[in-house]
Amino acid sequence: MYAKCGHLADARRLFDEMPERNVVSWSALICGYADAGMHSAAMEIFRLALEEAVPVNDFTVSCILRVCAAATLFELGAQVHARSIKTALNASPFVGSSLVSLYSKCGLVECAYQVFGEAPERNLGIWNAGLNASAQHGHTTAAFQRFMDMQNAGFRPNSITFLSLITACSHAGLVDEGKRYFSLMKEYRIEPQAEHYAAMVDLLGRVGRISEALGLIESMPMEPPEYVWGALLMACRMFKDADAAAIAAKRLFETGSRSSGAHMLLSSTYAAAGRHMDAALARKAMRDAGVRKETGLSWLEAAGEVHTFVSNCRRHPRSNEIYNVLEKVGEKMEAAGYVADTSAVVKDVDKDEKQATMRYHSERLAIGLGLLIVPEGVPIRVMKNLRVCDDCHNAVKYLSKCTGRIVILRDNRRFHRFEDGVCSCGDFW
Ligand SMILES: [Zn+2]
Ligand SMILES: [Zn+2]
Repeated sequence: MYAKCGHLADARRLFDEMPERNVVSWSALICGYADAGMHSAAMEIFRLALEEAVPVNDFTVSCILRVCAAATLFELGAQVHARSIKTALNASPFVGSSLVSLYSKCGLVECAYQVFGEAPERNLGIWNAGLNASAQHGHTTAAFQRFMDMQNAGFRPNSITFLSLITACSHAGLVDEGKRYFSLMKEYRIEPQAEHYAAMVDLLGRVGRISEALGLIESMPMEPPEYVWGALLMACRMFKDADAAAIAAKRLFETGSRSSGAHMLLSSTYAAAGRHMDAALARKAMRDAGVRKETGLSWLEAAGEVHTFVSNCRRHPRSNEIYNVLEKVGEKMEAAGYVADTSAVVKDVDKDEKQATMRYHSERLAIGLGLLIVPEGVPIRVMKNLRVCDDCHNAVKYLSKCTGRIVILRDNRRFHRFEDGVCSCGDFW
C-alpha cells in the first residue's frame, strides 16, 4: 500500500519491522522499488527474498524481470528465467511478457520470439510484448502479422498496441501504413496520447517530411511535451534543416527542458549545414544556460561483468589491446572503402586529429573489447545511453563486414543489428 503511493521509505520501515512477512509484502516492496526506477534497491530485496527462501509469486518475478530489462542486465535476467522454469512460474503470462521484453531489450530478439512462441497462455500484455519486440527490431512484417494474430485470438488492441505499430512503421519509413494505424485508433475509440504523436513525428521526420511533422505537432489537442519537439529536432538533424531545427529547439526549451542532447543536436545541425558560427553560438547558449553535456556511455556485459566506456578513455585494464585491435580492424575497414565522416565534429582541429576523436567514441571501445572477449559466433552486444552518431554507425557496418562478427548496438533510440556490412535499421534511426 505504502509502496504503491511512492512512500518507499515508509514502506521499507514497515517491512523491516514486520514480525512476519509474506509473499504479498515482499512483492509489494520489490515492485514498489521497480516502478520507482530504484533498480538496485529492488534487486537487493529480491536477493534477500531468495536467501530467506521466501516463496515468490509470478507478480514478483515479473517485476524483477522488468528491472533486469530496464537495466539491460541480460545474464541476471536469464538466471531469473532459469529459476522461474524450475518453479513453473514461467507459464504465467505476466512472467512471459516480462521475459519477452527482457530479451528484446537486451537485443536477443530470437529468444524473445521463442518465449512468446512457447507461452502456454497469452494475455494482452504478452501479445503487446511480442508485437513490440518485432517493432523494436525493425521486423515490420512480423509486427503487422502479430497484430492480425492477436485480433484473431480475440484480443482487442489498446493504446500500447498502436504505439508499437506506429513505431514499427517508423523504423521502416512506412508513412502511409503509419498514418493508417494512427487513424485506426479513432475507430477503436482510443484517443492518441502525446507518445503516439511523437511516434508519428518520428515517422514523418525520418523520411524528411518535416513541415508535415510540424503541422501535426501544431494540431495536437494537448501541450506538446519535450520529447515531441525532440523527435522533430532529431529529424532536422538528419536532414540538415537548420531553420526548422531552430524552431523545434526554441519550442523545446520553452517547455523548461534542460536537455543537453537538444542543445547538442541544434549545434550539430548547424555544423552539418555548414553554419559554423551558429553552431558555436548554440554551444555558447548551452554553456550560458549552465547545461552540461551528458556524457556518452557505452557498456558491454560479458561473463557476469559490466564493462563501461566513455569516449577516448584508457581506464579499462585491457585498453592497449582494445586500441590495437581497433587500429588493426580500422586499416581493413579503410581498405574496404570506409572514410571517416568528420562533419559533425565542430572543434577546430585538423583532419587527422578529427579522425582520431571520432574513432574512439565509447561504443567503438566497447565493441573493441567485444572483439577480444566475446567468443566467435556469439553476437557482440553493446548498449549506449545516447544516439549513435552517423560516423560510428557507418564504421560499425564496415567493422561487421571486415570481422565477420554480428554487432547488436542499442542506443537511446533503437536497436541496430550489424551483420555483413548492413544494419537492420536500414539507416533509419
Ligand atoms: Zn560516434
Ligand atoms: Zn542502424
